[in-house]
Amino acid sequence: NAKTKGRNSFDFYHKNLDIFSKERLGLEHDLRQALDNKEFIIHYQPIINSKTQRITSVEALIRWQHPSKGLIQPLDFIPIAEDIGIINDIGAWVLLKACTDLKAMQQLQPQLKMSVNLAASQFNAVNFVEKIAEALLAAEVSGESLILEITESMLIQDIEHSVEVLHNIRAQGVSISIDDFGTGYSSLGYLKRLPIDNIKIDKTFVEHIHTDKHDCDLTTAVIDMAHSLKLNVIAEGVEQQAQEDILSQHGCEYYQGFLYAHPCGVDDMNSLLQGRIEGELSINPGNVSNL
Ligand code: C2E
Ligand code: MG
Ligand code: MG
Ligand code: MG
Repeated sequence: NAKTKGRNSFDFYHKNLDIFSKERLGLEHDLRQALDNKEFIIHYQPIINSKTQRITSVEALIRWQHPSKGLIQPLDFIPIAEDIGIINDIGAWVLLKACTDLKAMQQLQPQLKMSVNLAASQFNAVNFVEKIAEALLAAEVSGESLILEITESMLIQDIEHSVEVLHNIRAQGVSISIDDFGTGYSSLGYLKRLPIDNIKIDKTFVEHIHTDKHDCDLTTAVIDMAHSLKLNVIAEGVEQQAQEDILSQHGCEYYQGFLYAHPCGVDDMNSLLQGRIEGELSINPGNVSNL
């Protein structure tokens, strides 16, 4: 009857909530120890210059090597780290580790740049600009070799403040990419005011660019707009040659995606830069060091 049914479904729901919160609490607990336990690793993915087909930069993408659950992807723990207030510590670790790894990679390719994702609370921290300077100094890399990836939503909350912070970051030679462009609040008005360098077209647009006229038109409009603002365009999630062909026709400057390389560990990245990996990756590594 209805009463029993109601009671049962309540119990069922209650149990599920319980399982969810236990799982979540467990992850939160483990995440708080992960930095101390050195469980984070960074994978690097090349960004390719469309003209030379060579690697110009690599993006640092964090993963969590959980002791019992295996490798956890960033979208499954970054939001939790944000919620429990430890994302700035993790972000500081990523920045220093990525810059340190870049220092080694530059032995193989001196012009290589490192692109690092930022969380909103890192960008909004009062000492953020000094943190960047400290990391560059500690890793002994120049500001010119660092790119910071910031999303639109992080910048539009307080445009005046964002303009000032971006200005101070760029005064150190560091450049700025707008990540996941097209998924947020895209407005020409604010883009024009922001001191930035590159736009990364989100992979959800690139995905159908070769099969869907609407997505193709949108993407080419974004490329044209970026160029009229003197910004470079990086296409994310390029998986097929047909996608690259269209991007190339419309003057997209940089490509990133599985077509060129999957994100990989620092040792594999160094091998790739050294030209020791052949066949598996379609970039011509022999040319990389001549960039
Ligand atoms: P993102 O910055 O937009 O990074 C690009 C994502 O696309 C990466 O996912 C990458 O592995 C994936 N990707 C690259 N090429 C392709 C492709 O051809 N096809 C497809 N389907 N995917 C491709 P990942 O590594 O899972 O990272 C997800 C997001 O997590 C990142 O998106 C970024 O927003 C965030 N993230 C990663 N590392 C950090 C970090 O150190 N700090 C912060 N705050 N966020 C990070
Ligand atoms: Mg990114
Ligand atoms: Mg992105
Ligand atoms: Mg994305």
